[in-house]
Amino acid sequence: MSFDYDLFVIGAGSGGVRASRIASTNFGAKVAIAEEYRVGGTCVIRGCVPKKMFVYASHYSEDFEDAKNYGWTVNHATHNWKTLIENKDKEIDRLNGIYHNILSNNNVTLYESRAEIVDQNTVRVGDKTVTAKYILIATGGTPMMPDIPGIEHAISSNEAFHLDDMPKRVIVVGGGYIAVEFAGIFNGLGADVVQLYRGERILRGFDHHVQGFVADEIRKKGIDLRTFANPAKIEKVGDAVKVTLEDGAVLEADAIMYATGRIANTEGLGLENVGVETKANGAVVVDEYSKTTVDSIYAVGDVTDRIALTPVALHEGMAFAETVFGGKPRAFDHSNVPSAVFSQPPVGSVGLTEEEARAKYGDVDIYKSEFRPLKQTITLGGERAMCKLIVDQKTDKVLGVHIVGADAGEIIQGIGIAVKMGATKEQFDATVGVHPTLAEEIVTMREKYTGE
Ligand code: NDP
Repeated sequence: MSFDYDLFVIGAGSGGVRASRIASTNFGAKVAIAEEYRVGGTCVIRGCVPKKMFVYASHYSEDFEDAKNYGWTVNHATHNWKTLIENKDKEIDRLNGIYHNILSNNNVTLYESRAEIVDQNTVRVGDKTVTAKYILIATGGTPMMPDIPGIEHAISSNEAFHLDDMPKRVIVVGGGYIAVEFAGIFNGLGADVVQLYRGERILRGFDHHVQGFVADEIRKKGIDLRTFANPAKIEKVGDAVKVTLEDGAVLEADAIMYATGRIANTEGLGLENVGVETKANGAVVVDEYSKTTVDSIYAVGDVTDRIALTPVALHEGMAFAETVFGGKPRAFDHSNVPSAVFSQPPVGSVGLTEEEARAKYGDVDIYKSEFRPLKQTITLGGERAMCKLIVDQKTDKVLGVHIVGADAGEIIQGIGIAVKMGATKEQFDATVGVHPTLAEEIVTMREKYTGE
């Protein structure tokens, strides 16, 4: 049977673009891709990239303060929100153009339209119907906003990137990656920030020492982090919002931003037409090769709700292309994926948390150090850092590394290689530290930590 394409990809984000490029250029497949919004996906258009720019922007306020004890006189520094938005938008437009070029340079046909699956080899895209031997779902995720009265007055991270003015008072709801990052962004840019988390410990899934340390540090920087706190209703009062919490407390702010998780973009995709199984939260169920319950349909990236990180989607996309078009079946290994939270201070983590390591390996040794990095010894703020290693007693293998402190995201990338290779504590110890750095702590911790 002949098809219009060998591969039809739905969604031109990180995973979809990478899979289509590799399938086309490396393996000679005839490929088309559909995108209903802007080519580039969440990460480039309204996620990692603009977020990191906002983090850089917001950190200057602290840098100006820190500079004083290094002898600088910094006259009243002010921030222009519109300049930041304009420059950010220019760069996102440039990246969007680069993504368009990647597709055209790799002979991938772009349909700038929404696509829907009709049957196992057919897709409706705009007013056309096209066939493909394989279909790849790479539609990503979208912010999940809980259904409470007045939720229409709240924004998500999508809108936070396009606000006309910088809100002076902000309420951020949630305790995950996005909430912690945006609380830091707004705080650094000078807003009064209240962060509301419904549970006890923010950053669910992270090591408990990371959770506690980040909470302490962000509070020190002025974020009013409240735990066991959640909005019950939101009302608009003039230009402001009045937020009543479940315990009856009332807060007022210029903006309330929800960062309460993301859900897979599968609604209206036509999955039910073909019997592609989804989880209760809408995510597509896949096997280790990213194949769905239908043989000709695969899915990669956030839509599968495995690990919602861009570099993971890229790897899943490449493994898919190699498996289906390269004749080299490859299951991407989701273990020991390093990641960073760009909170202030940031977090870098790879491997298991202490809790996970104890559950899986039983006896583990912990090495932990909390300290004031050199740069901060003569600053006013005095941001602290933490490094923690988790080591398997039987094999001496380093099972997890967790860092909170300046540049933790940069540091953890290198450590991630060592952990992925199965390095032992002895090998960490045999590595000479780079002095004076925060990162040297990773190879100089000798005393086992016996506290809670
Ligand atoms: P997360 O799942 O990380 O966090 C969601 C937060 O919202 C949790 O604190 C959760 O609480 C809370 N929450 C969930 N539902 C409700 C509700 N109904 N009412 C109140 N609070 C609620 O999601 P994010 O949106 O922050 O990020 C999504 C994913 O995107 C991340 O998991 C990550 O994979 C990725 N990401 C990665 C980044 C990076 O690499 N730096 C940056 C941004 C996003 P509870 O803990 O109790 O469930």
